[in-house]
Amino acid sequence: MTRTNSSEPSPPTTDVRRRMLATKRRDTPEELRIRSALHRSGLRYSIDARVLCSSRARADILFRRVRVVVFVDGCFWHGCPKHGTKPKKNAKWWAAKLEANIRRDRETDCQLRAAGWRVIRVWAHEAPEQAARRIGRAVATRRGAAGFRGPRAPRRGRSR
Ligand SMILES: [Zn+2]
Repeated sequence: MTRTNSSEPSPPTTDVRRRMLATKRRDTPEELRIRSALHRSGLRYSIDARVLCSSRARADILFRRVRVVVFVDGCFWHGCPKHGTKPKKNAKWWAAKLEANIRRDRETDCQLRAAGWRVIRVWAHEAPEQAARRIGRAVATRRGAAGFRGPRAPRRGRSR
């Protein structure tokens, strides 16, 4: 089987494959905590959504109208400077894999910014309330900016 993306090494062992499969891609505890903090502050958003059709990247939290996109990055998979660890077993493979992840993150950021999105990356280790405040500020800034008010909400009660 050939992989379409040659920069992405395929797992060398079943061990590694298992670890990859066991990793939750959405609804991680960190995401849930940030989401509930946002919700409490009255913000509404989409989750686990594709932002650009040209990119495979799925955003963890998305404010479509104001074009703010949030990724909650796991410390291991995205190479956190504080907690990013490098497995000793299959070290070479892991190094390539994690580097490819980081490179893809930066490419995604670049594409999204070029398309007018404000990209926010939150480390899984960050305090959720603090992250939610950071996100809330970005959304508020975008809402305040001209041209980002978006369409009006559909009027209700017309059938009254
Ligand atoms: Zn970390």
